Amino acid sequence: TQAHLDAMEKARGLNAYVLETPERALTMANVADTKIAHGEARPLEGIPLGIKDLFCTHGVATTAGSKILEGFQPHYESAVTHNLWRDGAVMLGKLNLDEFAMGSSNETSAYGDTISPWRRQENGKLSDAKLVPGGSSGGSAAAVAAHLCLGATATDTGGSIRQPAAFTGTVGIKPTYGRCSRWGTVAYASSLDQAGPIARTVRDCAILLGSMAGADARDTTCADLPVPDFEAAVSRGVKGLTIGIPKEYRVDGMSAEVQALWDRGAAMLKDAGATVREISLPHTPYALPAYYIVAPAEASSNLARYDGVRYGLRVPGKDIAGMYENTRAAGFGREVKRRIMIGTYVLSAGYYDAYYVRAQKIRTLIKRDFEAAYASGIDAILTPATPSAAFGLGEKGSGDPVEMYLQDVFTITVNMAGLPGLSVPAGLDAQGLPLGLQLIGRPFDEETLFAAAQVIE
Ligand code: GLN
Repeated sequence: TQAHLDAMEKARGLNAYVLETPERALTMANVADTKIAHGEARPLEGIPLGIKDLFCTHGVATTAGSKILEGFQPHYESAVTHNLWRDGAVMLGKLNLDEFAMGSSNETSAYGDTISPWRRQENGKLSDAKLVPGGSSGGSAAAVAAHLCLGATATDTGGSIRQPAAFTGTVGIKPTYGRCSRWGTVAYASSLDQAGPIARTVRDCAILLGSMAGADARDTTCADLPVPDFEAAVSRGVKGLTIGIPKEYRVDGMSAEVQALWDRGAAMLKDAGATVREISLPHTPYALPAYYIVAPAEASSNLARYDGVRYGLRVPGKDIAGMYENTRAAGFGREVKRRIMIGTYVLSAGYYDAYYVRAQKIRTLIKRDFEAAYASGIDAILTPATPSAAFGLGEKGSGDPVEMYLQDVFTITVNMAGLPGLSVPAGLDAQGLPLGLQLIGRPFDEETLFAAAQVIE
């Protein structure tokens, strides 16, 4: 814990943490020492972790990357972090993220950009240009990659665990919707949000998910299922499994590098005893547009609670409506306001059927594509995690937000279908930056993903 606190102090330039909690960390580490000395070590005893600042932490400021939550100190602990502390883990601090988890580069945070610890290699030299760590769990991915924690919590509504993991050479899993409780996690789009870990190895990810997951009556969408021994699944191998390669993911403009990475991943699985065959997920092209209707719709509803009365920031006005307006105008950033406007528009009386209802129908079709693939004997699906390696700070999305939204083209289908998805580092691009492959599994079969990822790792 002390070594990590020292490293955090030296790496403040990355802006991975929005809040360091050294006193709490050392208190927790002391308890861990005592437990170990008495032979009572719990599964994660003394393991120092960073917590994405979307998880409410009792008595510790929680911002969701937004100014509107300035000064908010939850008097409760999220289910996921509660489970980690129950198992003996130590909290180092709260990690930066895109505001309310809306973004793919960590550039929408009200607390500044997080910088990736990676740099491009140009003519045998490391470039000075700063790169994004991905988002929205950019702080989590950067902290894990820079050794500022042993693992981190993250959340994934449309790729926010898998894309930053791919950008930073780390492993991230979005478990099946319902595997982890959403209780006490600040909501973005409730029917898509899932918590999961980012760590440096597949095994670390499996161990962390084992603690984070579990039934919770306080979240009615949380599955009442036992948590499997994920760690044991890591070394299971892939002999006898059938891996699907969806042809619709071979999108126009995919770089030769990413294509080669994908082929290499498939070959590794084959060499390890899996059968690899092409499959079709025909509704894939509609996932991204449908997501950008469903997610903002749910977000506009979830964000209605930030009214200057119940949480954080309050900016006075001439009457109560004026106070609401002033608070929301000052408290929300540009991207969040854009999502609220899209969301309220697609939910409005005249457009509800044309947009929201159609998007929900597309969602059903996407889910059925996967069901058909699994019914035909596919055990897991292999795709690239992202269309490219990490991009430069300020390089994307400032003119056209859709440029940023396209980052999630390979990851969003998984959220729409509620399936588990894992990103594993699989190689470097020509400039020495990490690239990731994604494995998609059957509902509640994260074990197969850990087994297959271990083969690629
Ligand atoms: N980049 C996507 C968005 O901005 C996904 C974010 C997420 O998974 N939280 O909505």
